[in-house]
Amino acid sequence: MAADSSPNVSAFVWILRILAVLLIVRLIFRFLGGLMRGLSGESPSAPGGKRQAPGPRVGGRLVRDPQCGTHVPEANAIRVGSGDNAVYFCSTTCRDQWSAARRAG
Ligand SMILES: [Zn+2]
Repeated sequence: MAADSSPNVSAFVWILRILAVLLIVRLIFRFLGGLMRGLSGESPSAPGGKRQAPGPRVGGRLVRDPQCGTHVPEANAIRVGSGDNAVYFCSTTCRDQWSAARRAG
């Protein structure tokens, strides 16, 4: 019979085990919380609470630059023409290239 392990050591081991379990549980909850936040952030209709942050898409639609194919917010785009004939460019360089190519035929 060699069952003389001191009770102090086994108590210490138990505390370590409990701490390890608590840490793991905390990590799991953090992971789940991150998942939930990621999902709710992606959905277009986020359930209340936070006010919608003013992003670049607010109040503007994207238009396509026919010269380079870049999509730019209408507010930042350089417009040529009006109405249905309006063409939008990301920069004056693209606008000039486009109009030069158009003039050349
Ligand atoms: Zn462009």
